[in-house]
Amino acid sequence: MAYYVSEDLLDTSGLKIHNEDCKYVKNRGDTETMRWHGPYDQKEAERVAKIFSGQYRKGWRKAKCCMTKS
Ligand SMILES: [Zn+2]
Repeated sequence: MAYYVSEDLLDTSGLKIHNEDCKYVKNRGDTETMRWHGPYDQKEAERVAKIFSGQYRKGWRKAKCCMTKS
């Protein structure tokens, strides 16, 4: 399983980690409001999310849209 980190450039909700099955990942594209990073393995995705969250002083979490299945 590959993981992607989304960086929301407008919202302050922080960094989110998505898995490769996510519909947003499948349709991802950098826009003015969203930047994508990846693919990473899980550890690397969390590491990247932590780095960005430190830069932005925001949190990071697994994206809700990816949590419906285990
Ligand atoms: Zn997702």
